[in-house]
Amino acid sequence: MPLEAEGTRNHYPAACTICGTVFELWDPNRGHSAHVVLDLEPVGGGIRIACLRHVHHATQCACGAVTAARPGMGVLSTMPGRSRDLLLSEACLVGPALATFIAALSVRYHISRARIREFLAGWFGVTLSVGTLDRCIREVGVACEPVVEDLLDDLRQAGVIHADETPWRQKEKRCWLWVVLSSTTAIFHIGSRQGEEIRDLIGDAFLGWLVSDGYRAYRSYKKRQRCPDPQGGGPGRWPQPAGRPLRGVAAARGPHPRGRRGHRRPHPQSDSRPSEARLQPPPRRRG
Ligand SMILES: [Zn+2]
Repeated sequence: MPLEAEGTRNHYPAACTICGTVFELWDPNRGHSAHVVLDLEPVGGGIRIACLRHVHHATQCACGAVTAARPGMGVLSTMPGRSRDLLLSEACLVGPALATFIAALSVRYHISRARIREFLAGWFGVTLSVGTLDRCIREVGVACEPVVEDLLDDLRQAGVIHADETPWRQKEKRCWLWVVLSSTTAIFHIGSRQGEEIRDLIGDAFLGWLVSDGYRAYRSYKKRQRCPDPQGGGPGRWPQPAGRPLRGVAAARGPHPRGRRGHRRPHPQSDSRPSEARLQPPPRRRG
């Protein structure tokens, strides 16, 4: 069923692309292209999905040239193995606020695309295909890429960070999912299991403490605390979230707690009672 726009938003070119003359409202123009956009908008303390027709106009300059307003274009994302490249553009069915909402439902709240489709149809009366939802989620991911560098900078400034990796299948290809956490930032990265992956995330100039398991990729960091695993350890386990166990890890500053072959020495404050050591609060920083 074709979408019915409830309003029109017009876009005009600002100036002639040939001579640079700034256009006035009364300069002759005509519709050049149009597309419909669904987007979230606030209403009465809630939200709704509005359907607007965006019309881009072309204006004729006194010099004779015709300049058209065009939808904004973003970055082109290419990825090996993907059948089509992803180009961010304003000329798409789903607007930025609705795309962000869909991505949050998927990534933050772990709702499947089929359930998101059902949710949007049931609560907003808008039916989108699973393919459209999938594209939205990928577009938001590409749009968020610049934020990742800022998050990595935050991570590298932290005094204590935690890292781990676990097997991850990406379209039948065996990869590894890395996670690096500080008290305020979490970075996830899909790649190989090589040491370069963690060095690309943390950097060589990291001055804080790295808490990890005994995997060799972490061993180049001298200020490293091997993570005590209260569940028995083993490959593929995630670091514990910030909470009781990690508070004890954060407290394990001072002499390097590792032996030459990577065996864990008893905690200097715990004697032979590591379970009690994990309950110790971290020391307060001075200054
Ligand atoms: Zn002109």
